[in-house]
Amino acid sequence: MSEPAGDAKLEVKQASKEVKESENVAEKYSAMTVSKNSEMNMGELSTVFSAVPTHKPVKKQIQFVEDKQEFSRFPTKTGRRSLSRSISQSSTDSYSSAASYTDSSDDETSPRDKTQVNTKGSSDFCVKNIKQAEFGRREIEIAAQDMSALISLRKRAQSEKPLAGAKIVGCTHITAQTAVLIETLVALGAQCRWTACNIYSTQNEVAAALSETGVAVFAWKGESEDDFWWCIDRCVNTEGWQPNMILDDGGDLTHWMYKKYPNVFKKIRGIVEESVTGVHRLYQLSKAGKLCVPAMNVNDSVTKQKFDNLYCCRESILDGLKRTTDVMFGGKQVVVCGYGEVGKGCCAALKALGAIVYVTEIDPICALQACMDGFRVVKLNEVIRQVDVIITCTGNKNVVTRDQLDRMKNGCIVCNMGHSNTEIDVASLRTPELTWERVRSQVDHVIWPDGKRVILLAEGRLLNLSCSTVPTFVLSITATTQALALIELYNAPEGRYKQDVYLLPKKMDEYVASLHLATFDAHLTELSDEQAKYLGLNKNGPFKPNYYRY
Ligand code: NAD
Repeated sequence: MSEPAGDAKLEVKQASKEVKESENVAEKYSAMTVSKNSEMNMGELSTVFSAVPTHKPVKKQIQFVEDKQEFSRFPTKTGRRSLSRSISQSSTDSYSSAASYTDSSDDETSPRDKTQVNTKGSSDFCVKNIKQAEFGRREIEIAAQDMSALISLRKRAQSEKPLAGAKIVGCTHITAQTAVLIETLVALGAQCRWTACNIYSTQNEVAAALSETGVAVFAWKGESEDDFWWCIDRCVNTEGWQPNMILDDGGDLTHWMYKKYPNVFKKIRGIVEESVTGVHRLYQLSKAGKLCVPAMNVNDSVTKQKFDNLYCCRESILDGLKRTTDVMFGGKQVVVCGYGEVGKGCCAALKALGAIVYVTEIDPICALQACMDGFRVVKLNEVIRQVDVIITCTGNKNVVTRDQLDRMKNGCIVCNMGHSNTEIDVASLRTPELTWERVRSQVDHVIWPDGKRVILLAEGRLLNLSCSTVPTFVLSITATTQALALIELYNAPEGRYKQDVYLLPKKMDEYVASLHLATFDAHLTELSDEQAKYLGLNKNGPFKPNYYRY
């Protein structure tokens, strides 16, 4: 199934307009400050990563002050990347990004048919092989090295246990980075049961490591569709344990609970959703008046968006292209379609390696930005015969047509960085006169009758998520935002959040960013009283109005 684009996006915008602003929503984290303590070394990390946190509680730093602040509730933009590649949208896509390092493909037995017990005697989990736990633990420790902001939040808040009593059911990619998040939630007092939002992305050894420490994980790489829903059900439906919070990526878990367990669903205190698809589904529920639980849209928080779209793509475009094609970029002619956040990231990376970069745009503002940044703005047809690489990043459909594919030169590489797999008209290439040759995983040569070859990557799906990895640091930002959103929803006094979809307050976004500054030993300038008065700002933020575009 293709992901929502076009009309669906419009609907999200429409839905967002229709929900009213909330009044004076209190925000709890103004007392949190960034200190040198947020820097950690590996020695400290290994203490933190013993299954249940044992080290001495740090000075209590979280204070839940009743500092009133209005929430901005809806995104000004839609169509962000979703890390979600769930059953409901693209479950059959291969997903190498979070590949398991331990290959257990020789073990054909379904985990559902095995009885496994962890060293504490519990069998409340279902993973590929619990014996891989030690290896998974090392993977989690490596991920944690680049997630120091999340670890810092864990250290600051674990004495207070702001999630004590929270019973969180989660459905996300199960990777080393997610494990750092889950173990943070446990350290903050939560009980967690977890399942995968994608049938391919589970790191088996990480699932084993989590199960070994007592998190009930139901997931393995290569689940069938039936397994996928079975795992979700096992997470939710267990004797003596009823979830009161949801952390979802793609909306499948939310949907399952809403449909199958309406009475449990009604009692949920809050949903935190990370993906564009899941957020879209929440807005649809809200629009239909069926959302009976408050939900937090993490997808559209500023830090998540900027890092996911601009910086993540700047880092991963070259990785995806290199791994699949070994192409040298110096002197190559590349056209990037769309000069939004993703396009800007791709162009910057390609330019830095000496490629000659052209841009196509429909929006004069973005086109002018591209000119200012030193790129030639052209129509695709003007350069179609000469370029070596074509990258789409528009979120639109049919940006590269069959007619244009016919006119490309021999050896042209074609790929997509946008969310939906409709940017390149791949379907039009599935005709009898063209031959498809799979030359590597995710690499197809499409061969014309005269012998011309076009190199198509990931069948037109997101290149970086299909063919490379996503930097851990980016995931740290998303994970920190998710943890804060859970804490906020769980601790909110009754009535603060209505049955609706909310964005994190800007101040929390600023807080997530400030936690990550410590990694770079970056020192923020503080406003003087006089300056704060002059700008009409609180010295502790928020520093920008909600409409500011960064
Ligand atoms: P954006 O809205 O900032 O940018 C898209 C740009 O494409 C806009 O400037 C728009 O004017 C332009 N555009 C639209 N139709 C066009 C056409 N026919 N020809 C040329 N230009 C056209 O969006 P964004 O944040 O850059 O995201 C773009 C896409 O990438 C979305 O689908 C998003 O979900 C996805 N995304 C992918 C990743 C990833 O890791 N690969 C990360 C974030 C977002």
